[in-house]
Amino acid sequence: MIIAETIMEVREQVRAWRAEGLTVGLVPTMGALHEGHASLVTAAASQCDRVVASVFVNPTQFGPGEDLESYPRDFEHDCQVLEAKGCDMVFHPEVAEMYPEGFATYVNLESEMTKQLCGKSRPSHFRGVCTVVSKLFNIVTPDRAYFGQKDAQQLAVIRQMVRDMSFGVEIVGCPIVREEDGLARSSRNTYLSAGERSAARVLYRSITAAREMIAASGVEVPADEVLSLMRRVVSEEPEANIDYIEAVDGVSLMPVERVKKGTLIALAVYIGKTRLIDNFTV
Ligand code: AMP
Repeated sequence: MIIAETIMEVREQVRAWRAEGLTVGLVPTMGALHEGHASLVTAAASQCDRVVASVFVNPTQFGPGEDLESYPRDFEHDCQVLEAKGCDMVFHPEVAEMYPEGFATYVNLESEMTKQLCGKSRPSHFRGVCTVVSKLFNIVTPDRAYFGQKDAQQLAVIRQMVRDMSFGVEIVGCPIVREEDGLARSSRNTYLSAGERSAARVLYRSITAAREMIAASGVEVPADEVLSLMRRVVSEEPEANIDYIEAVDGVSLMPVERVKKGTLIALAVYIGKTRLIDNFTV
């Protein structure tokens, strides 16, 4: 597996692959890789001739007081995971390579979409995500790029950005990979103490309860009923503090009053100081 630290190295390698007529898949990550990331690389390797993964903790998507400095980093382990799953090149730039002195251009989606869900408590987050993902698309020029449904809002925002900016890349959304007890895999799970890890199961418990209610009703259910049930389940866990639990349209991300096919039910919950997100689409 090639380890590239500069934009130029990536461009040269991709150019050589293109000259051979090979297709290229991109998997953007912030490292501290787990089975969720690994599933994206596996999907990319099965659909593309060559796979590029990026490992870059992107400072512009962290707000003041968030966990930029403490975000877990383990590049050696990341390389092992990537190589085992069939990644051909990892792009691991320094911050100055991506944001050289004088950097001043951002990609910002100016719709209500980025102000919903995580956008309420993380107002500059999606501007950072769109900016770094745009740069990665320009650097790697992939045929396809792979994103997890775990970050459902990010996936919807990127789909809209690709449409709006005419990026010639196909966005592939991949299912959420979970631990055996249902907790969605996340690099931030490493912040949890043993007690908090056990408390964190409440996110999936609330999802399961909601799914059961929706399945049992068989028709459209008022969103309030589903959301109150989820809030009740989460509130039973003393370590848990709800940031949001919402039902929105899966494409526009605007709130809906009735839960039906295509509705995205998403939640963000603090377990101690750690903010965890999860979701499901009806
Ligand atoms: P991150 O390193 O957290 O920025 O995530 C990089 C990519 O991996 C994003 O597209 C995430 O949605 C995806 N991802 C993270 N966790 C999971 C998971 N548990 N299942 C599927 N995809 C995931």
